[in-house]
Amino acid sequence: MKKTWGSRPIATALILASAFASVISDTALAEGRPAKELFGGMALPAKAAPSPYGSYAKGCIAGAVAIPTDGPTWQAMRLSRNRRWGHPDMIALLERFSKDAVQLGWGSGILIGDISQPRGGPMLSGHASHQIGLDADIWFTPKPASPLSPQQREEMPFTSMLVKDKFLTVDRRLWTNTHARVVVQAASYPQVERIFVNPAIKKKLCDTWTGDRAVLGKIRPIYGHDAHFHIRMRCPEGASGCKPQAAVPPGDGCDKSLAWWFTKEPWAAPKKDPNAKPAPKPRAMQVSDLPKACAMVLDARGPSSELEATYQATGGLLPTDAASAFVAPTVASDQPFEVPAVVPVPAARPAGW
Ligand SMILES: [Zn+2]
Repeated sequence: MKKTWGSRPIATALILASAFASVISDTALAEGRPAKELFGGMALPAKAAPSPYGSYAKGCIAGAVAIPTDGPTWQAMRLSRNRRWGHPDMIALLERFSKDAVQLGWGSGILIGDISQPRGGPMLSGHASHQIGLDADIWFTPKPASPLSPQQREEMPFTSMLVKDKFLTVDRRLWTNTHARVVVQAASYPQVERIFVNPAIKKKLCDTWTGDRAVLGKIRPIYGHDAHFHIRMRCPEGASGCKPQAAVPPGDGCDKSLAWWFTKEPWAAPKKDPNAKPAPKPRAMQVSDLPKACAMVLDARGPSSELEATYQATGGLLPTDAASAFVAPTVASDQPFEVPAVVPVPAARPAGW
């Protein structure tokens, strides 16, 4: 059914939706509430084996685990959002990365922004992606030596790495070699598929990076991302419900795909046709638009407490009942990064990030 909705007029879709709702018993679907409200209202994950379903911008996750709010080399920010949840591979990677960042001189660790909601899915605010527990935002500000209070974590402003009134220019007073090394470090893990940074930051790396250029290719330019960068992991092995993204093109990415951001095109307001009818308000994503498994993820039983589903920094989850389906993985060690074999043609505009 969901496939046909997109191609039919909205009115027909609405009639279909109400007919559908009257016969279906599932509460999530029957209410017809936008998926972002349903997923945004979940306090705890679905207790199941870790499984991402769907794509980064249209999916959900079962068996997500929370990164503790405080670790030896990290702090989670904006705790009220409850977006500290991710695939256990992602949480393990963040732990590993936080230690590596300290080794590179990144203060006393990393500040972690949004990962995903407890069951992933669309959010009420902020992101198109981050839906399957494999995306995480890292602040361009290192963790201070003394812990930030919960209130400070809500209120601490982001620091942009760009010069305020200049077009796409990195602020030399703020950007350091350590920033560059930390971003490249994040890109270097084999399980990381992409890092998103502002085009100005990508250009800075292109102009100044003297190490391995192949890894630079994973660092992709995109709007925003000037006060934080975004780590995206590839679909974990065996995660059959996870929809992979096209591999990044080979090379360092310091090419036309970057130069495009320095043209007017990405920043121009869309041209308006004065005779065009006003576009209908886009229909909010419904649970039925997501992979089928996501309705089950919403309905699934949760753990008895947040603690039960919280990742333990020492490399496992806090001890719970033996029947827990959560298994903390070990992070793959320093395998060399290989340029992907599949080479897609880059789109003119970045899509699906
Ligand atoms: Zn992000």
